[in-house]
Amino acid sequence: MQKNGISEEELFSFLSLKKDEDSNYHHVLSSMCTIPHPIAVRAHQMFVEANLGDPGLFVGTASIEELLIERLGTLFHHPEAGGYATSGGTESNLQALRIFAKMKGSRRPNVVVPESAHFSFEKACDILSLEMRTVPSDETFRMGVDALQERMDENTCCVVAIAGTTEYGVIDPIKAVSEITHDAGVPLHVDAAFGGLVIPFLDPEIPFDFALPGVSSIAVDPHKMGMSTIPCGSLLVREPSWFGLLNVETPYLTVKQECTLAGTRSGGAVVSAFAVLEYLGMNGMKAVVEGCMKNTRRLIEGMETYGYRRAVTPDLNVATFEAGTGTVPPGWRVSWTRRGHMRTVMMPHVTRDVIEEFLREIGEMDA
Ligand SMILES: *Cc1c(COP(=O)(O)O)cnc(C)c1O
Repeated sequence: MQKNGISEEELFSFLSLKKDEDSNYHHVLSSMCTIPHPIAVRAHQMFVEANLGDPGLFVGTASIEELLIERLGTLFHHPEAGGYATSGGTESNLQALRIFAKMKGSRRPNVVVPESAHFSFEKACDILSLEMRTVPSDETFRMGVDALQERMDENTCCVVAIAGTTEYGVIDPIKAVSEITHDAGVPLHVDAAFGGLVIPFLDPEIPFDFALPGVSSIAVDPHKMGMSTIPCGSLLVREPSWFGLLNVETPYLTVKQECTLAGTRSGGAVVSAFAVLEYLGMNGMKAVVEGCMKNTRRLIEGMETYGYRRAVTPDLNVATFEAGTGTVPPGWRVSWTRRGHMRTVMMPHVTRDVIEEFLREIGEMDA
């Protein structure tokens, strides 16, 4: 640190130079985050100092967190679900596995995840000392249900299914998986970090949530398709009392027990997540999702006319292609899957105009 501070003007001209180095999302097709909704920004600013880590000091904010969980629980066909707002899918997945590992109490617990699982499960299993067993994907990159049963044994504390994979935007056969886990008495955690705020707004809706009796918990990230500010994820569980397994005493805070992983937590982001859902309602969210899905279909169709074959027909707004790594027009951000497919995500900032611009430049490259 410098002895004396610098002027506000000097400081902010430095910050704005740095901000210019950031991407502004305009040509970003690789991200599951997006520009927050203006309503989210306004709500966040209003609650910028709120700390959910000490809810007795921020009673209003804490009650909005409860409302957010209630809205999400209702959306997922279980208004009585327990839950809290996490820092994102990584924390939600970790905390879900933590609950089920404790519940099982096995000395050598294992978790069965699909091959397509997000890398957060690797972190969670490392931290919790869980053996991670993977189930191979089928040719559509969905979990192969046949191999699931072979991977499970008496030390399996949890099975994971993905409602909207990060790489291919497909939904695992969650109904079939949930029947197997339900019969076996093993908890099923659904990672809907991305898909949780897409699938309920699709027509027809694909079963993935608490309506399936085998589903025990769900991770969903408002800071992806919920257009909240960052960080806001959430973890919902079928039985609120399960969070008791994670409680620690917090003697010097206003509330004496805490089940969250983080201590200090952003109230602003959580209020922003609630605000967007309230403001848009079911119909507003449906319109956003419909737009993203339409753009996804348009991109796939456009790319195929240039000879880039789709890797799979996605369930959600993620499009993947067979393409060489040198095939992206300059200035555009796409990403690559572990299997080497070009991956794009049609988030709300990726408008129809952006898609047409990308396709035009792809066409010019080929010419
Ligand atoms: C994004 C994502 C995660 C991780 O979420 P973070 O908010 O980045 O921690 C986990 N699972 C899936 C399926 C995701 O798409």
